[in-house]
Amino acid sequence: MLQPRERHIVAAVRDLDGANRRELAELTGLPRTTVTAAVASLIARGLLTETDGPAVTRRAGRPSPTVRIDLSRKTVAAVELGRRSQSVSLMGFDGRVLSRADIEFDQAQPFEAVAAGLAAAADTVACDATEVSAMVVSVTMPFRRGAGAPQVPMYSAGEMHFAPAKARRPNWLLTDPSAALTEALGIPVVIENDINLAALGESGHGAARGAHTAVYLSVVPGFGAGIVIDGRLYRGAGGVAGELAHVSVREDGDLCVCGNRGCYTTARRNGPSLADDIASALGRNMSLDEVIELAAEGDVAVRRWLADVGRSMAEPLAGFVTMLNPDLLVVDSALGSAAAPVVEGLRDTIERRTSPMTFQGLEIRPGQLTASAIPAGAAVLAAQRYVDCLVGLTPSRRLGGLGAMG
Ligand SMILES: [Zn+2]
Repeated sequence: MLQPRERHIVAAVRDLDGANRRELAELTGLPRTTVTAAVASLIARGLLTETDGPAVTRRAGRPSPTVRIDLSRKTVAAVELGRRSQSVSLMGFDGRVLSRADIEFDQAQPFEAVAAGLAAAADTVACDATEVSAMVVSVTMPFRRGAGAPQVPMYSAGEMHFAPAKARRPNWLLTDPSAALTEALGIPVVIENDINLAALGESGHGAARGAHTAVYLSVVPGFGAGIVIDGRLYRGAGGVAGELAHVSVREDGDLCVCGNRGCYTTARRNGPSLADDIASALGRNMSLDEVIELAAEGDVAVRRWLADVGRSMAEPLAGFVTMLNPDLLVVDSALGSAAAPVVEGLRDTIERRTSPMTFQGLEIRPGQLTASAIPAGAAVLAAQRYVDCLVGLTPSRRLGGLGAMG
């Protein structure tokens, strides 16, 4: 347990993203000698660490050692229950990939088997010397802290079908299983949406480092967006902020699986079906990976298709960009070098559909973490929750939509 003044100091280190002792004394209002003694004790207990030179050049003059939160000894098992594959990565809280393995995981099993499967996944990547400190499970459906995956009627071709809804939302996710999994596994377990994690990964360790308001745009697994403000995930009141696929763009369009009409996802085709479109246009079968490869090689038709995807995304995005005023849009990490034409199409159309004052400060970039955006996001989330737990949650943090961690 931390003393109140120690909590104060750790919170200041977190908020400044690394600080020297003088800055800590100024920010906390504590005497310099008190700060020095507390920092020494926190370093000795492995909670803080010290590096040479300043974190950020905030002042002129001789650089003094920077105190940071020590994340080097903590690890998180990032379990990805993806649409195309399932895997587990052991990540340092500082974002290092320590090991990774593919797994087979049946989401339709009862809770006890799910818990056993997740424990086995953690064992797969843990080596004897490394203790797994936490687990983050990435799921493909929207997920609301404390409630689970939202239960919405799912429709198909105008008729209600309950079976697909069940298939999309496995029983163990119908209520939030975090607390039960935490108890079963003996480490904090958190469930999070995959696109939110990719957004957080790019924010902490990729293309969106240092951005104030970053919006991550997913294309490959499905259309969607993850919003990161000041390094923190913004989930919205119901945990479904950024559901780009379900922005209605055609009032008289097709009925969507969500029950709305003319959603963007009904009007445009995303990753896997995009590959089918390109394949039929080129007259041969092609996987998404092949499409990405062709784009990287400069194939004109494929690049044209991807630029069109970028242009079409501006339609549901333009109003949102105007309202939110982000400084950065990051395009799907999984697209790799095939993201460039999407970025071009997006930039071109967003510029035309937003005012100069909105567009002026907006950057649009491809994601950097081609294969590891989601595990990197799991590391960021686990580290943030660990530090929040150390210092105790403040009201402003709670407004950011973070629940307490066990
Ligand atoms: Zn919809």
